[in-house]
Amino acid sequence: MELAEPLPWHAEAWTRLQAQIRRQALPHALLISGLPGLGKRRLAEQLAAALLCEAGRNELQACGRCRACRLLVQGAHPDLFVVTPEEEGRQVRVDQVRGLIDQLSLKSQYGGYRVGLIDPADRMNAAAANALLKTLEEPPPGVVLLLVAARPSLLPATIRSRCQQLTLSPPPAEQARAWLQAQATPGAEQLLGLAAGAPLRAVELHAAKVQDRWRALLATLQGLQAGRLGVVAAAAEWREAGRETVPLLIAICADLARWLAGGEGRYGEGERLRELAAALDLAGLHDYLELLLELRRHLEHPLNEQLLLERAFAGWQAVAGGRRPSGRQQ
Ligand SMILES: [Zn+2]
Repeated sequence: MELAEPLPWHAEAWTRLQAQIRRQALPHALLISGLPGLGKRRLAEQLAAALLCEAGRNELQACGRCRACRLLVQGAHPDLFVVTPEEEGRQVRVDQVRGLIDQLSLKSQYGGYRVGLIDPADRMNAAAANALLKTLEEPPPGVVLLLVAARPSLLPATIRSRCQQLTLSPPPAEQARAWLQAQATPGAEQLLGLAAGAPLRAVELHAAKVQDRWRALLATLQGLQAGRLGVVAAAAEWREAGRETVPLLIAICADLARWLAGGEGRYGEGERLRELAAALDLAGLHDYLELLLELRRHLEHPLNEQLLLERAFAGWQAVAGGRRPSGRQQ
Protein backbone atom coordinates (compact mmCIF):
# COMPACT_ATOMS: atom_id res chain seq x y z
CA MET A 1 0.00 0.00 0.00
CA GLU A 2 1.00 3.59 -0.53
CA LEU A 3 1.27 6.22 2.15
CA ALA A 4 -0.31 8.95 0.07
CA GLU A 5 -1.48 12.38 1.19
CA PRO A 6 -4.99 12.46 2.65
CA LEU A 7 -7.60 13.33 0.04
CA PRO A 8 -9.04 16.83 0.45
CA TRP A 9 -12.63 15.61 0.80
CA HIS A 10 -11.58 13.36 3.68
CA ALA A 11 -10.48 16.34 5.77
CA GLU A 12 -13.55 16.41 7.99
CA ALA A 13 -13.43 12.68 8.62
CA TRP A 14 -9.72 12.92 9.42
CA THR A 15 -10.27 15.71 11.90
CA ARG A 16 -12.77 13.59 13.77
CA LEU A 17 -10.59 10.48 13.66
CA GLN A 18 -7.57 12.40 14.82
CA ALA A 19 -9.48 13.77 17.78
CA GLN A 20 -10.58 10.23 18.64
CA ILE A 21 -7.02 8.87 18.34
CA ARG A 22 -5.70 11.63 20.60
CA ARG A 23 -8.36 10.98 23.20
CA GLN A 24 -7.66 7.26 22.81
CA ALA A 25 -11.33 6.98 22.04
CA LEU A 26 -11.10 5.34 18.66
CA PRO A 27 -13.95 2.82 18.28
CA HIS A 28 -12.87 -0.80 18.00
CA ALA A 29 -14.81 -1.11 14.75
CA LEU A 30 -15.35 1.46 12.06
CA LEU A 31 -17.65 1.01 9.07
CA ILE A 32 -16.42 3.23 6.25
CA SER A 33 -19.08 3.61 3.57
CA GLY A 34 -19.81 5.77 0.54
CA LEU A 35 -20.08 5.55 -3.24
CA PRO A 36 -17.36 3.80 -5.22
CA GLY A 37 -14.57 6.23 -6.04
CA LEU A 38 -14.56 8.30 -2.85
CA GLY A 39 -11.43 6.65 -1.46
CA LYS A 40 -12.90 4.48 1.30
CA ARG A 41 -10.11 1.93 1.06
CA ARG A 42 -7.50 4.66 0.96
CA LEU A 43 -8.91 6.25 4.11
CA ALA A 44 -8.91 2.84 5.83
CA GLU A 45 -5.30 2.21 4.83
CA GLN A 46 -4.21 5.67 5.92
CA LEU A 47 -5.91 5.20 9.25
CA ALA A 48 -4.24 1.79 9.66
CA ALA A 49 -0.88 3.38 8.81
CA ALA A 50 -1.43 6.21 11.28
CA LEU A 51 -2.28 3.70 14.01
CA LEU A 52 0.71 1.47 13.30
CA CYS A 53 3.38 4.14 12.62
CA GLU A 54 5.97 4.06 15.40
CA ALA A 55 7.15 7.64 15.01
CA GLY A 56 3.93 9.47 15.52
CA ARG A 57 1.89 7.31 17.85
CA ASN A 58 -1.45 8.96 18.52
CA GLU A 59 -0.93 11.29 15.59
CA LEU A 60 -2.84 11.46 12.37
CA GLN A 61 -0.26 10.98 9.70
CA ALA A 62 2.11 8.06 9.25
CA CYS A 63 5.73 9.25 9.01
CA GLY A 64 6.65 7.06 6.05
CA ARG A 65 10.15 6.40 7.42
CA CYS A 66 9.95 4.26 10.54
CA ARG A 67 10.21 0.47 10.52
CA ALA A 68 6.43 0.07 10.72
CA CYS A 69 5.81 2.44 7.81
CA ARG A 70 8.42 0.71 5.65
CA LEU A 71 6.86 -2.68 6.35
CA LEU A 72 3.40 -1.28 5.56
CA VAL A 73 4.52 0.01 2.19
CA GLN A 74 5.87 -3.47 1.43
CA GLY A 75 2.55 -4.97 2.54
CA ALA A 76 4.41 -6.88 5.24
CA HIS A 77 3.41 -5.32 8.56
CA PRO A 78 2.71 -8.19 10.96
CA ASP A 79 -0.06 -6.33 12.80
CA LEU A 80 -2.14 -5.42 9.75
CA PHE A 81 -4.44 -8.07 8.32
CA VAL A 82 -6.31 -7.37 5.12
CA VAL A 83 -9.18 -9.56 3.94
CA THR A 84 -10.50 -9.23 0.39
CA PRO A 85 -12.36 -11.72 -1.82
CA GLU A 86 -9.97 -14.15 -3.46
CA GLU A 87 -11.32 -13.21 -6.85
CA GLU A 88 -12.82 -9.87 -7.74
CA GLY A 89 -16.59 -9.84 -7.48
CA ARG A 90 -16.62 -12.93 -5.24
CA GLN A 91 -17.72 -13.16 -1.64
CA VAL A 92 -15.63 -12.87 1.48
CA ARG A 93 -15.80 -16.38 2.90
CA VAL A 94 -16.19 -17.57 6.46
CA ASP A 95 -12.76 -19.24 6.59
CA GLN A 96 -11.15 -15.93 5.60
CA VAL A 97 -12.94 -14.16 8.45
CA ARG A 98 -12.02 -16.96 10.88
CA GLY A 99 -8.40 -16.62 9.78
CA LEU A 100 -8.57 -12.90 10.48
CA ILE A 101 -10.08 -13.46 13.92
CA ASP A 102 -7.34 -15.97 14.78
CA GLN A 103 -4.64 -13.52 13.77
CA LEU A 104 -6.22 -10.65 15.67
CA SER A 105 -6.36 -12.78 18.82
CA LEU A 106 -2.54 -13.08 18.84
CA LYS A 107 -0.36 -10.60 20.65
CA SER A 108 0.74 -7.53 18.76
CA GLN A 109 4.16 -8.04 17.17
CA TYR A 110 5.20 -4.45 17.74
CA GLY A 111 3.34 -3.67 20.93
CA GLY A 112 0.80 -1.36 19.35
CA TYR A 113 -2.56 -1.74 17.66
CA ARG A 114 -3.57 -4.70 15.57
CA VAL A 115 -5.69 -3.70 12.62
CA GLY A 116 -8.04 -5.86 10.57
CA LEU A 117 -9.33 -4.46 7.28
CA ILE A 118 -12.19 -6.10 5.37
CA ASP A 119 -12.90 -4.75 1.90
CA PRO A 120 -15.56 -5.01 0.63
CA ALA A 121 -17.22 -5.95 3.91
CA ASP A 122 -20.62 -5.98 2.20
CA ARG A 123 -19.42 -9.00 0.24
CA MET A 124 -19.16 -11.13 3.37
CA ASN A 125 -21.53 -14.05 3.08
CA ALA A 126 -23.91 -14.74 5.95
CA ALA A 127 -21.61 -17.23 7.66
CA ALA A 128 -18.66 -14.84 7.43
CA ALA A 129 -20.69 -11.97 8.90
CA ASN A 130 -21.84 -14.27 11.67
CA ALA A 131 -18.29 -15.30 12.47
CA LEU A 132 -17.24 -11.65 12.69
CA LEU A 133 -20.10 -10.73 14.96
CA LYS A 134 -18.61 -12.37 18.04
CA THR A 135 -15.36 -10.43 17.64
CA LEU A 136 -17.34 -7.22 17.24
CA GLU A 137 -19.21 -7.99 20.44
CA GLU A 138 -16.10 -8.76 22.46
CA PRO A 139 -13.15 -7.27 20.66
CA PRO A 140 -9.69 -8.22 21.95
CA PRO A 141 -7.93 -5.17 23.46
CA GLY A 142 -5.88 -3.11 21.03
CA VAL A 143 -7.76 -4.37 17.98
CA VAL A 144 -9.28 -1.99 15.44
CA LEU A 145 -11.50 -3.42 12.72
CA LEU A 146 -12.01 -1.37 9.57
CA LEU A 147 -14.94 -2.43 7.41
CA VAL A 148 -15.13 -0.88 3.97
CA ALA A 149 -18.49 -1.05 2.20
CA ALA A 150 -20.06 0.73 -0.77
CA ARG A 151 -23.43 -0.72 0.21
CA PRO A 152 -23.53 -1.02 3.99
CA SER A 153 -27.25 -1.83 3.89
CA LEU A 154 -26.26 -5.31 2.68
CA LEU A 155 -24.59 -5.94 6.03
CA PRO A 156 -26.67 -7.45 8.82
CA ALA A 157 -28.02 -4.80 11.19
CA THR A 158 -26.25 -6.61 14.03
CA ILE A 159 -22.89 -5.86 12.36
CA ARG A 160 -23.75 -2.26 11.52
CA SER A 161 -24.96 -1.48 15.01
CA ARG A 162 -21.64 -2.61 16.50
CA CYS A 163 -19.55 -0.34 14.28
CA GLN A 164 -19.11 3.37 14.38
CA GLN A 165 -20.23 4.57 10.97
CA LEU A 166 -18.15 6.88 8.87
CA THR A 167 -19.94 7.81 5.66
CA LEU A 168 -18.02 9.59 2.94
CA SER A 169 -19.96 11.93 0.65
CA PRO A 170 -18.97 13.25 -2.77
CA PRO A 171 -17.02 16.49 -2.42
CA PRO A 172 -18.49 19.81 -3.57
CA ALA A 173 -18.23 20.06 -7.37
CA GLU A 174 -15.68 22.84 -7.16
CA GLN A 175 -13.34 20.83 -4.95
CA ALA A 176 -13.73 17.73 -7.10
CA ARG A 177 -12.96 19.66 -10.31
CA ALA A 178 -9.92 21.29 -8.75
CA TRP A 179 -8.61 17.96 -7.54
CA LEU A 180 -9.10 16.31 -10.94
CA GLN A 181 -7.36 19.19 -12.66
CA ALA A 182 -4.45 18.79 -10.26
CA GLN A 183 -4.27 15.13 -11.37
CA ALA A 184 -4.08 16.38 -14.97
CA THR A 185 -7.39 14.68 -15.79
CA PRO A 186 -9.15 16.56 -18.60
CA GLY A 187 -12.91 16.75 -19.06
CA ALA A 188 -13.48 16.92 -15.30
CA GLU A 189 -17.08 18.12 -15.58
CA GLN A 190 -18.20 15.33 -17.85
CA LEU A 191 -16.31 12.64 -15.97
CA LEU A 192 -17.69 13.74 -12.59
CA GLY A 193 -21.19 13.57 -14.04
CA LEU A 194 -20.62 9.96 -15.06
CA ALA A 195 -18.95 9.13 -11.76
CA ALA A 196 -21.80 10.51 -9.62
CA GLY A 197 -19.38 13.08 -8.28
CA ALA A 198 -16.80 10.57 -7.02
CA PRO A 199 -13.36 11.87 -8.03
CA LEU A 200 -11.39 8.59 -7.94
CA ARG A 201 -14.08 6.94 -10.02
CA ALA A 202 -13.77 9.82 -12.49
CA VAL A 203 -10.05 9.10 -12.80
CA GLU A 204 -10.80 5.42 -13.42
CA LEU A 205 -13.37 6.29 -16.05
CA HIS A 206 -10.92 8.58 -17.73
CA ALA A 207 -8.38 5.79 -17.80
CA ALA A 208 -11.01 3.54 -19.35
CA LYS A 209 -11.60 6.10 -22.11
CA VAL A 210 -15.17 6.44 -21.02
CA GLN A 211 -15.80 9.61 -22.96
CA ASP A 212 -15.06 7.86 -26.25
CA ARG A 213 -17.40 5.09 -25.20
CA TRP A 214 -20.07 7.59 -24.31
CA ARG A 215 -19.99 9.02 -27.83
CA ALA A 216 -19.88 5.57 -29.40
CA LEU A 217 -22.85 4.41 -27.31
CA LEU A 218 -24.90 7.43 -28.39
CA ALA A 219 -24.12 6.44 -31.98
CA THR A 220 -25.28 2.86 -31.26
CA LEU A 221 -28.55 4.17 -29.80
CA GLN A 222 -29.05 6.31 -32.88
CA GLY A 223 -28.40 3.31 -35.10
CA LEU A 224 -30.95 1.25 -33.18
CA GLN A 225 -33.48 4.04 -33.26
CA ALA A 226 -33.12 4.48 -37.02
CA GLY A 227 -33.25 0.73 -37.63
CA ARG A 228 -29.76 0.70 -39.13
CA LEU A 229 -28.53 -1.58 -36.39
CA GLY A 230 -30.06 -4.72 -34.86
CA VAL A 231 -30.29 -5.55 -31.17
CA VAL A 232 -28.12 -8.69 -31.41
CA ALA A 233 -25.37 -6.90 -33.32
CA ALA A 234 -25.43 -3.96 -30.91
CA ALA A 235 -25.15 -6.30 -27.93
CA ALA A 236 -22.24 -8.14 -29.56
CA GLU A 237 -20.50 -4.84 -30.20
CA TRP A 238 -20.85 -3.74 -26.58
CA ARG A 239 -20.27 -7.06 -24.88
CA GLU A 240 -16.58 -6.40 -24.50
CA ALA A 241 -17.24 -3.20 -22.57
CA GLY A 242 -19.37 -5.50 -20.39
CA ARG A 243 -20.14 -4.13 -16.98
CA GLU A 244 -19.65 -0.52 -17.98
CA THR A 245 -22.31 -0.47 -20.66
CA VAL A 246 -25.42 -0.52 -18.48
CA PRO A 247 -24.18 2.26 -16.13
CA LEU A 248 -23.35 4.31 -19.23
CA LEU A 249 -26.84 3.74 -20.61
CA ILE A 250 -28.27 4.87 -17.27
CA ALA A 251 -26.19 8.05 -17.42
CA ILE A 252 -27.34 8.71 -20.99
CA CYS A 253 -30.98 8.22 -20.02
CA ALA A 254 -30.62 10.55 -17.06
CA ASP A 255 -29.27 13.12 -19.49
CA LEU A 256 -32.11 12.51 -21.93
CA ALA A 257 -34.61 12.90 -19.10
CA ARG A 258 -33.07 16.25 -18.18
CA TRP A 259 -33.22 17.26 -21.81
CA LEU A 260 -36.90 16.32 -22.09
CA ALA A 261 -37.67 18.21 -18.90
CA GLY A 262 -36.32 21.36 -20.51
CA GLY A 263 -32.87 21.29 -18.95
CA GLU A 264 -29.49 20.87 -20.51
CA GLY A 265 -27.55 17.66 -20.96
CA ARG A 266 -24.58 17.51 -18.66
CA TYR A 267 -22.23 15.53 -20.85
CA GLY A 268 -22.09 17.45 -24.10
CA GLU A 269 -23.04 15.91 -27.47
CA GLY A 270 -26.15 18.09 -27.43
CA GLU A 271 -26.96 17.60 -31.11
CA ARG A 272 -27.09 13.83 -30.76
CA LEU A 273 -29.09 14.04 -27.57
CA ARG A 274 -31.66 16.23 -29.28
CA GLU A 275 -32.05 13.73 -32.09
CA LEU A 276 -32.43 10.86 -29.64
CA ALA A 277 -34.84 12.76 -27.42
CA ALA A 278 -37.07 13.75 -30.34
CA ALA A 279 -38.74 10.32 -30.42
CA LEU A 280 -39.12 9.92 -26.66
CA ASP A 281 -41.62 10.83 -24.02
CA LEU A 282 -40.73 11.19 -20.36
CA ALA A 283 -42.97 8.34 -19.16
CA GLY A 284 -41.43 5.90 -21.64
CA LEU A 285 -37.96 7.02 -20.67
CA HIS A 286 -38.69 6.44 -17.00
CA ASP A 287 -39.90 2.93 -17.78
CA TYR A 288 -36.69 2.34 -19.67
CA LEU A 289 -34.62 3.65 -16.79
CA GLU A 290 -36.42 1.19 -14.50
CA LEU A 291 -35.46 -1.62 -16.84
CA LEU A 292 -31.82 -0.50 -16.85
CA LEU A 293 -31.74 -0.28 -13.06
CA GLU A 294 -33.07 -3.82 -12.89
CA LEU A 295 -30.41 -4.98 -15.36
CA ARG A 296 -27.74 -3.26 -13.30
CA ARG A 297 -28.75 -5.37 -10.32
CA HIS A 298 -28.06 -8.47 -12.41
CA LEU A 299 -24.53 -7.22 -13.00
CA GLU A 300 -23.75 -8.31 -9.44
CA HIS A 301 -23.91 -11.93 -10.48
CA PRO A 302 -22.22 -13.93 -13.17
CA LEU A 303 -24.36 -13.55 -16.25
CA ASN A 304 -24.78 -13.88 -19.93
CA GLU A 305 -23.71 -10.43 -20.95
CA GLN A 306 -24.89 -10.82 -24.53
CA LEU A 307 -28.46 -11.54 -23.38
CA LEU A 308 -28.40 -8.78 -20.80
CA LEU A 309 -27.30 -6.22 -23.37
CA GLU A 310 -29.84 -7.50 -25.86
CA ARG A 311 -32.52 -6.76 -23.27
CA ALA A 312 -31.06 -3.31 -22.71
CA PHE A 313 -30.94 -2.46 -26.41
CA ALA A 314 -34.32 -4.04 -27.21
CA GLY A 315 -35.77 -1.87 -24.45
CA TRP A 316 -34.26 1.18 -26.08
CA GLN A 317 -35.63 0.27 -29.49
CA ALA A 318 -39.08 -0.12 -27.97
CA VAL A 319 -39.05 3.17 -26.12
CA ALA A 320 -37.52 5.04 -29.06
CA GLY A 321 -40.36 3.64 -31.19
CA GLY A 322 -43.00 4.90 -28.77
CA ARG A 323 -43.67 1.49 -27.21
CA ARG A 324 -43.16 0.24 -23.67
CA PRO A 325 -39.79 -1.31 -22.87
CA SER A 326 -41.03 -4.67 -21.63
CA GLY A 327 -37.48 -5.87 -21.18
CA ARG A 328 -38.35 -9.00 -23.07
CA GLN A 329 -37.11 -9.68 -26.51
CA GLN A 330 -39.59 -8.74 -29.14
ZN1 LIG B 1 6.09 5.74 10.59
